[in-house]
Amino acid sequence: MLLRHTNKEVKEREGLTINPAKTCQPIGAMYAALGVHGCLPHSHGSQGCCSYHRSTLTRHYKEPVMAATSSFTEGASVFGGQSNLLSSIDTIFSVYDPEVIAVHSTCLSETIGDDLQQITKKASDDGKIPDGKFVMYASTPSFVGSHVTGYANMVVGMAEQFAVSTGETKDQVNIVAGWMEPSDMREIKSIAGRMGANIVLFPDTSDVLDAPQTGKHVFYPKGGVTLDQLRSTGDSKASVALGCMSAEPAAIALDKKCKVPFETVDMPIGLSATDRFIMALSKAAGVEVPAEITAERGRLVDVMADMEQYFYGKRVALFGDPDQLMPLTEFLLDLGMVPAHIVSGTPGLRFDKRMKEILQRAPEANLKIGPQADTFLLHQWIKNEPVDLLIGNTYGKYIARDEDIPFVRYGFPILDRIGHSYFPSVGYTGGIRIVEKILGALMDRQDRDAPEERFELVM
Ligand code: SF4
Repeated sequence: MLLRHTNKEVKEREGLTINPAKTCQPIGAMYAALGVHGCLPHSHGSQGCCSYHRSTLTRHYKEPVMAATSSFTEGASVFGGQSNLLSSIDTIFSVYDPEVIAVHSTCLSETIGDDLQQITKKASDDGKIPDGKFVMYASTPSFVGSHVTGYANMVVGMAEQFAVSTGETKDQVNIVAGWMEPSDMREIKSIAGRMGANIVLFPDTSDVLDAPQTGKHVFYPKGGVTLDQLRSTGDSKASVALGCMSAEPAAIALDKKCKVPFETVDMPIGLSATDRFIMALSKAAGVEVPAEITAERGRLVDVMADMEQYFYGKRVALFGDPDQLMPLTEFLLDLGMVPAHIVSGTPGLRFDKRMKEILQRAPEANLKIGPQADTFLLHQWIKNEPVDLLIGNTYGKYIARDEDIPFVRYGFPILDRIGHSYFPSVGYTGGIRIVEKILGALMDRQDRDAPEERFELVM
């Protein structure tokens, strides 16, 4: 009993979060920044913050994540971190030679009131930014929002600080990636390529955080959206934002700055959300849906129909990030499952509204969104109303063990398994992977619990 202090009695709590279902803003900003080619993320705060952000990303992606820090000490904490950041910018360009430095703030620098826009302008005025190089920034105070907010803020920075409208519209569509795995970003590009849609995907962490082992250390892997591509997003004919929480703010920023119209769809997880993404991309790019994609869809539908009896009526508890939870919950409903308890530590009115729409098909479900929506509460709900399956990040393993529930790892962070950065869970093929993982967990449990006379070779 690792979580032996979790009791059944649920009490209203304010100002106390126990085992949060979120992590801190700069982690998201750092992850988004890694999706720009030749970018070195920079954490404007203490070394401890930067080490935590880097280690969480490194443990999840099993790749060395490099980032710089303003390395605040007592002096910077009291008088502000401007001089630290200015000398950091100097050192980074002369020693590490990135194309762009992506600076994000932290709790401490935000509390002091450091103005990243003003400091980066000063760096430019003082000649600390070499010709052809850039410093971008995003404000990421971690006492509000979550890692998802930090990701969204950095992606907004990409749109606001790089996109340019030349007045000539290009035959291309921007796809603003919500927080998804490198494998998912690769799959989105593959789907667009097979549809004949000319896209700019940003950010793009494929070939950065899933780079192949070549025997040579490369400081800046070949992946990532280039600065030229980012500039060109202002001339695209449309944008499709994948997720109202992590992607839509950047699409809005692009529309405001460069008048690029946009459509927001749920992240393409599962059948219905992928259908909507394919139709949105087809419309935005003016391309037909090819037979190959239709066949892929058919394979997912076939698996869902074949295995329906194993899913039907199974109760699921899930926790994680908004843009995954919304389509995943819808997919569970499409599979005939019952989403029973859902929590997310990331607050958001759009998220709340959309979840309630989706849950009209499961009106009995417990839903809590916001800072007090933690995994302690989820555990209490499970104790009161047990479930057949738990879906969430690695931290869910404690609940799964204590309550003896089959557990599917999904979301961020996953610290004790691999696969998430290599096998997509978006698109129709990604849907099959989700089905396979859920089915595997349920059938393993059925095998484990079966009495000898009911232990079947064919299930
Ligand atoms: S929550 Fe704030 S203080 Fe803690 S690691 Fe994140 S930025 Fe640093």
